[in-house]
Amino acid sequence: MQQKLAILGAGISGLGSAILGVRQSWSVFVSDNGPIKIETKQQLENLGVEFEENGHSFENLAKADIVVKSPGIPQTTPIVQKLIAAGINVISEIDWATRFTNATLIGITGTNGKTTTTLLTYHLLKEAGLNVGCVGNVGISFAQMVAEDPKDYYVIEVSSFQLDETYHTRFHIACILNITEDHLDRYEGMQGYINSKFRISRNQNETDFLVYGIDCPNIQEEIIKRTITAQSISFGTIPREKNFATYRENQIEINRNNIKYTIDMNNFSLRGKHNQYNSMAAAVIANILEVRNDNIRESMSNFQNMEHRLETVTKVNGIEYINDSKATNVNSTWFALESMEKPVIWIAGGVDKGNNYSDLKPLVKEKVKLIICLGLDNLKIHQAFQGDVDMIINTSSAKEAVHVASRMGSNGDAVLLSPACASFDLFDSYEDRGRKFKNAVRSL
Ligand code: ADP
Repeated sequence: MQQKLAILGAGISGLGSAILGVRQSWSVFVSDNGPIKIETKQQLENLGVEFEENGHSFENLAKADIVVKSPGIPQTTPIVQKLIAAGINVISEIDWATRFTNATLIGITGTNGKTTTTLLTYHLLKEAGLNVGCVGNVGISFAQMVAEDPKDYYVIEVSSFQLDETYHTRFHIACILNITEDHLDRYEGMQGYINSKFRISRNQNETDFLVYGIDCPNIQEEIIKRTITAQSISFGTIPREKNFATYRENQIEINRNNIKYTIDMNNFSLRGKHNQYNSMAAAVIANILEVRNDNIRESMSNFQNMEHRLETVTKVNGIEYINDSKATNVNSTWFALESMEKPVIWIAGGVDKGNNYSDLKPLVKEKVKLIICLGLDNLKIHQAFQGDVDMIINTSSAKEAVHVASRMGSNGDAVLLSPACASFDLFDSYEDRGRKFKNAVRSL
């Protein structure tokens, strides 16, 4: 009898899962509790896939052998709970796609730096000539690539929400970059969030590798508590005894199985300490897969990051404008401020996810001359930083924020949009926020 797949959520991963389901001759049903985009509906119709929108019908979903759930839908959603209670397997798109590939899987998670490190790792492997795909948050979904353009290696950006419903996937190389506070609205406390990140290593065996950032206190504490079956390689600022990578004097030094590899990073194009971490992680992964040092060095120097991540927009009247709209939590903003070498006019604010700003105070005192709030409710920012800077000004559009910055700034300053908050009060998304900022800068 034909097997039945149901998919909750008709986003990118949902559509990809449907395509793979059809390819594998499963009967597929897609259900979304909101409206489905016209193009997606067209694609589903072309595939011969039935769908429903603006609500879920339990009866239809409960007929499925497997339900693939979009990571955007919390596990606590009533329909998900009802399906689980009915004994139906609710899994992630990653677990679904993994069933149909024997490729080598490289999974990258962490609170910050996933996209950058995934892209960088992909770049290193691709330039080295491997038949590799890059999936997750950028480009097409893992499931779709497995269906339409299968590879020997996949570099997969994995969020904690995806890991929560990932049971069977075994990553040959799993990487945890860092774990700091985020998404605590969807987890029961910090430990729940940490456990979720560590699920990336759950099916690994002795032939696999766990690469992790040892400077992160949460990872440090957790590693000690757990039995790790995979071969561990840490990266951080302090050299360790064995199996580690470190970054010093513009070089990445990897020590693996007592063999030392040194990669010159003089021409690395990304700024900031956080990108040193990301580049160590990517270099270790490439090293495990036996990419040559020279190759890694060369590829590091011609890597281009995505928009909205410490992206220099332009200079106007000697003031440099930097778009870091993707910084939606305190830790990512910490690294942005840390990397600044000029007096900073800092544009911050938006939807606060329970932020604690105290870690930022020393950097703000040292580097920031003016804070421009860009959000509807800026009270917490005022409370946190009054007394640390000369002035805090409220604005309610990217244009207004950029105008204030240009009026108040002087030659040699940097204007940094690094909000530490989500964007949904004034913008559609962090991309929308970043683009509006860039447009405002360019029309100065
Ligand atoms: P993610 O995919 O995990 O959200 P991104 O690579 O898109 O990560 O970067 C998100 C934000 O975090 C950007 O503002 C970026 O400058 C910052 N960032 C990147 N890497 C790190 C890191 N290793 N630690 C802290 N912040 C980082």
